[in-house]
Amino acid sequence: MLSYPEALHAVLETVATLPPQTLPLTEAGGLVLAAPACARWDLPRCDNSAMDGFAIALPEVEGNATFKVIGVAFAGHPFSGRLNTGEAVRITTGAPIPAGAVSVVPKEETDELGETVTLHAPARAGSHIRRRGEENHGGEELLPAGTRLHSGGIGLLASAGASEVSVYPRPRVAIFSTGDELVELGRQPGPGQIVNSNLHLLAARLRECGCEPLPLGVGEDTPEALDAIIQRAAGADLVLSTGGVSVGEKDLVQESLSRNGFERRFWKVAIKPGKPVLFGTLQGKPCFGLPGNPAATAATFELFVKPALRKLAGETDLRPVTRKARLLNDVKGGGKRQSFLWCQLEWQEDGYQVSVPQRQGSGQNRSIQGANALLAIPLGVEKLHAGDIVEVLVL
Ligand code: AMP
Ligand code: MG
Repeated sequence: MLSYPEALHAVLETVATLPPQTLPLTEAGGLVLAAPACARWDLPRCDNSAMDGFAIALPEVEGNATFKVIGVAFAGHPFSGRLNTGEAVRITTGAPIPAGAVSVVPKEETDELGETVTLHAPARAGSHIRRRGEENHGGEELLPAGTRLHSGGIGLLASAGASEVSVYPRPRVAIFSTGDELVELGRQPGPGQIVNSNLHLLAARLRECGCEPLPLGVGEDTPEALDAIIQRAAGADLVLSTGGVSVGEKDLVQESLSRNGFERRFWKVAIKPGKPVLFGTLQGKPCFGLPGNPAATAATFELFVKPALRKLAGETDLRPVTRKARLLNDVKGGGKRQSFLWCQLEWQEDGYQVSVPQRQGSGQNRSIQGANALLAIPLGVEKLHAGDIVEVLVL
């Protein structure tokens, strides 16, 4: 059986980044740049005022000079004339500096009287002026390829006129569940039935990861039903199924995948939960058969699917985000398998600490709720103790 690192390596080796697309900036939030994004123009676009006050020409005398106010410059409404010695123009923040002005004096540092304004202190040339191009020049690279666009990046590119960007598209991920016991949310489960909760967990998690989920519902435990749902799933960038990949009589997913163009890379990994996880390509696209137990579905998503999605979406640094933390309670290891426990990582004054809920049954959703990290217990470690410094995987 493969170890987790070996299996993850196989996943990342198999998954290829999606081909880049040019998209409007308005649709690129959360996506990774496939090419550098450049400024279309200088920023600021012209010298402009950093304050509400007065743009002044050279004073006629030294000291607390008085100026004649000859007009106004509002943001969006430049003053079109030219200032001569001893003249001023009322100006608001962001308004272009009029020709002939050498400085801006904040309103609070002046006294206005009729058509004149007197400064409280001698003016300094160049003060409170934002210079054209001081942030960046036209054509300059603002963000390198590989940057994930968050709100700050979107604002920066918008201000510099980059209305279209080359990005790796949002991965479209087909998800389906398998199992005759599953009913859709909103229906009352009959005897022996349960709600298809995995589909909803996965759809929500995919959205959190910046992907587009394509939920296909439930495939019954028959070859025909599974073949049909697999064929519908096959067009997506990545395919996820849950359930039906273990060794039970009704675990028919792998056979059905194989009839439909699946090439297996691995089945079963020495981890707990999630041992029966299946991975390969379905008609050339990465495809995971995740185990059906909810905690196993969610854990194998974090351990394998999330890194695969990051690669699809153009991230190049695929190392997991980890933290060292002080363990708050004793926990047991998984014997011959590397075990992963849902846990809560919290910052305290003296560093991170991590608590592990005792109820970690793989059939339960309870431990996943509220977890923000996974604690990996290495193979062969029987027990970790409260107070130990451990490394956790941040979700
Ligand atoms: P399986 O891997 O199909 O044998 O399923 C293992 C366990 O997970 C069984 O108890 C299933 O009822 C449960 N299970 C499978 N699929 C889902 C699902 N979509 N939502 C919630 N539980 C599920
Ligand atoms: Mg099943």
